Amino acid sequence: MATTLQLQQQKSTVQGYDYDLAIVGGGIVGATLACALKDSGLTVVLIEAQPHSEAVAKGQAYNLSLMSSRIYQGIGVWSEIEPKLTPYQQIRLSDADCPQVVQFFPKDLGLHSLQPHFPRKTAPALGYVAEHGILLQALQDFLQDCPNVEWLCPAKVIRTAYETDGVHLDLASSSDIPAAIRVRLVVAADGARSQIREKAGIGTHGWQYWQSCIVATISPEKPHSNIAYERFWPSGPFAILPLPSNRCRIVWTAPHAEAQTLAALDDTQFLQELRRRYGDQMGQLSLIGDRFVFPVKLMHANRYILPGLALVGDAAHCCHPVGGQGLNLGIQDVAALAEVIMIAQQQGEDIASLRVLKRYQRWRRLENLATLSFTDFLDRLFSNHWLPLVVGRRLGLRLMQALQPLKFYALKFMTGLSSRLPKVAQN
Ligand SMILES: Cc1cc2nc3c(=O)[nH]c(=O)nc-3n(C[C@H](O)[C@H](O)[C@H](O)COP(=O)(O)OP(=O)(O)OC[C@H]3O[C@@H](n4cnc5c(N)ncnc54)[C@H](O)[C@@H]3O)c2cc1C
Repeated sequence: MATTLQLQQQKSTVQGYDYDLAIVGGGIVGATLACALKDSGLTVVLIEAQPHSEAVAKGQAYNLSLMSSRIYQGIGVWSEIEPKLTPYQQIRLSDADCPQVVQFFPKDLGLHSLQPHFPRKTAPALGYVAEHGILLQALQDFLQDCPNVEWLCPAKVIRTAYETDGVHLDLASSSDIPAAIRVRLVVAADGARSQIREKAGIGTHGWQYWQSCIVATISPEKPHSNIAYERFWPSGPFAILPLPSNRCRIVWTAPHAEAQTLAALDDTQFLQELRRRYGDQMGQLSLIGDRFVFPVKLMHANRYILPGLALVGDAAHCCHPVGGQGLNLGIQDVAALAEVIMIAQQQGEDIASLRVLKRYQRWRRLENLATLSFTDFLDRLFSNHWLPLVVGRRLGLRLMQALQPLKFYALKFMTGLSSRLPKVAQN
């Protein structure tokens, strides 16, 4: 990251603007965009409201898709991140207590041997599990070597005024950060309750699910063997993701009242309930840290762009946590936006114009809609007790286990590799 002096020298090259681009929200999506713009020739300011210590302390863990890993590899941050992630080499998909299990392996996707294109020769994986703090810290470390990026933190954007040739931002901060800046383009990476989106008058559509999500970390007695589980119970999907040091992340979706009851149980009772869904295959389980409950919603912004503004990540869309797609969509958004902006900049176009930004919206809106619809479909399909549907979906799982092409296309979708490949991921 640049010092203020270096940035002031660069700023003088940007006529009438403090920076070319302001990213509001330094979560993983916003920080990834800043990293992706390293060699863009644009001056970038990343504005984050939370102090650094709070931002990295968030106890979340994410499924990181193969597409996201390729994007991080192309940006140049993968070698830092990869040793700290847990790869999973098998996915086991099942329907409640039905014994039929669909098993996915890397060979089902055509990945047979060691992955030579990764910096460390690694066994093929179907995805990775990343802890929030580790991922965010690695991105922030990478930004230390990005002289075109300045990090304003903690600083909150409290007002945005869109002018014909730029955007004026007012900031609130307790430190010596400027109270106002002027930029060509604002990127809203400020999360699901995006103030930037709301104040720009961009509406959304969607709904709250009848479910909440409980997340917890456990330590099983037996090795997790780098297997990811997704088990569909009528009350909602239940996922187990492997973490380093033989820990596992539980993502457990249940109707609101049941989720609140589960969250209020003492540790022993909670573990008993967990074992009823989890089974005994990993021996004794113990809880690590707190449990958190989140409401689950589907949200899609009616548009992703206005002149001088682009929405990315949760500011543009939120989906059901089944399949762990949310963050991955945001990472794909920023890879697409960075590509569109950099090409426009090279061709001398106005990066803040609708003409340019429409290319980003055209690229990502339908792809995101497909994932939002698919996760919604999965949740509804497997939460249904209607006997013909139960029989039909169990037959579907049997077919998927038996038919290689079905597995291949399901995996392509789950890993993000069915989406349009941004240039940064073409390596
Ligand atoms: C229970 C649960 C499980 C999930 N599991 C997965 C998973 O396995 N895989 C996956 O891919 N996704 C998962 N997700 C989704 C994932 O958490 C989100 O998609 C992702 O965190 C969104 O990142 P973001 O950077 O867009 O937004 P956020 O993480 O919300 O970051 C927004 C940032 O903007 C800052 N900010 C807000 N307003 C301002 C302002 N005015 N000025 C300055 N800064 C501001 C905030 O402080 C924050 O740091 C899950 C979600 C839930 C609820």
